[in-house]
Amino acid sequence: MMAKNSRLNKRLIVFVLVISAWCCVSASAASRGLHVVVTTSIIEDLVQNVAGQNATLTVLAGAHSDPHTYEPKPEDNVKIAQADIIFENGLYLEPWMDKLYKTSQSQAQRVVVSAGVPLIKSPNYRHEKAMASEYDPHVWHDVSNVRLMVKTIRDIFVKVDPPRAQEYQRNAELYDQALMELDQWIATQVAHIPQERKKLVTSHDTFEYFARRYGFTIIGTVIGSATTEASDPSALEMTRLIKEIRLSGIKTIFLENAANPQLVKTLAREAGIQVAPELYADALGASGTYIQMMRTNVRTIVEALQP
Ligand SMILES: [Zn+2]
Repeated sequence: MMAKNSRLNKRLIVFVLVISAWCCVSASAASRGLHVVVTTSIIEDLVQNVAGQNATLTVLAGAHSDPHTYEPKPEDNVKIAQADIIFENGLYLEPWMDKLYKTSQSQAQRVVVSAGVPLIKSPNYRHEKAMASEYDPHVWHDVSNVRLMVKTIRDIFVKVDPPRAQEYQRNAELYDQALMELDQWIATQVAHIPQERKKLVTSHDTFEYFARRYGFTIIGTVIGSATTEASDPSALEMTRLIKEIRLSGIKTIFLENAANPQLVKTLAREAGIQVAPELYADALGASGTYIQMMRTNVRTIVEALQP
């Protein structure tokens, strides 16, 4: 009798342990919120502003990584496999993403945040490899585009997590207000630069959206491509760009935080112009947030181009 009782007790204990373990897993699943993977640090900040505390965010190409040339790590497969939603820029900013998604066998919903943004064609598209978009992927340098991207992000969270719809809407609205102020602030700041000096030369084709929104002309880019994956310019291309720089009367060339600075420095030396502090192009770097990144870029540009 005693032996039978103790066997029963053992079974009961095992049963209770299994039940409590199951309870713990489902409780933590509920409290952890949505698992969200983002491809770049810029998208991470936009998604964080909408999601608030309701999602755990994992970024692949972080604040100091170049998303064009990012090489996925083995652990990225696990991150993608566990994700509920993946937010990506699209337009081949992340040429590694399709393969990563396929190999991870993820069931996550993929959201291209640039969908719905008015796109600019890449001026150097024909020179590029097959793994490139006809359109320039650097949409975030125009704040009015980011306002549309935030609406796309908001709509996804509202759809996936309806009980918190109001919170997502409120978060998105507050952030949109800040973006609107940023957009106006940039317009006031760049008005300090005389029109004939509103000319930019940078590492790669990153600032076309910025230029169109805020009234600048892109004189040229050192790599002559919308992706940092493109090969270095030939001697002939360098000579042509130096000629264009001299004709334009430009005195400064800008570095970018996630791109190779050597080419820019070489070009500046050969063209006899200055190298301005780096601009945040495709990653947040040390700037912290998207809004701070844009403010820092605009201050750098205004300071470098003012008479
Ligand atoms: Zn880029």
